[in-house]
Amino acid sequence: MRVAVYPGSFDPTTNGHLDIIKRTSKLCDKLIVAVLENPSKVPMFSVEERVAHLNEILKDCSNVEVKSFSGLLVDFVKSVNANVVIRGLRGVTDFSYEFQMALTNKSLDREIETLFISADTQYLFFSSSQVKEIAIFGGDIDNMVPEIIKKEISKKLKEE
Ligand code: ADP
Repeated sequence: MRVAVYPGSFDPTTNGHLDIIKRTSKLCDKLIVAVLENPSKVPMFSVEERVAHLNEILKDCSNVEVKSFSGLLVDFVKSVNANVVIRGLRGVTDFSYEFQMALTNKSLDREIETLFISADTQYLFFSSSQVKEIAIFGGDIDNMVPEIIKKEISKKLKEE
């Protein structure tokens, strides 16, 4: 069985992430979307909230599972019996960072391959951080995120 892991912060999940998930899930038997608990970033949503959002958004995707992890990605990938890591590429800026990460992971575990999927042109230009910034300043994020994320962001902003 070919199991792939798509790791990221997903703070929050965007339509760009969703596009990568849908396209990749067709290439493997099982895709694990892995939400990273990253102590060096202050998130808008907790890991539990991000996992809950993804579970709701992906409830109809039968071969996609959502999990959280902390620590080394290669250790997580091994623990779920996967050997492929999926990363999305939006352009050359992503590439230099992603290439370095892939080589680092390869040096930690030679069995694990990183597969890069190019972002769809309509999602090329945005990131989770831009979505948050636009929402904070009252801009329109309708085309950038699933409906549930839009609702959750506005709930979060009202709490602050
Ligand atoms: P990280 O903090 O690990 O970069 P992100 O949640 O920002 O986590 O991104 C996870 C993955 O999704 C990365 O491979 C990133 O390049 C990719 N990604 C982010 N935004 C988009 C987008 N708009 N279209 C396609 N891929 C994207």
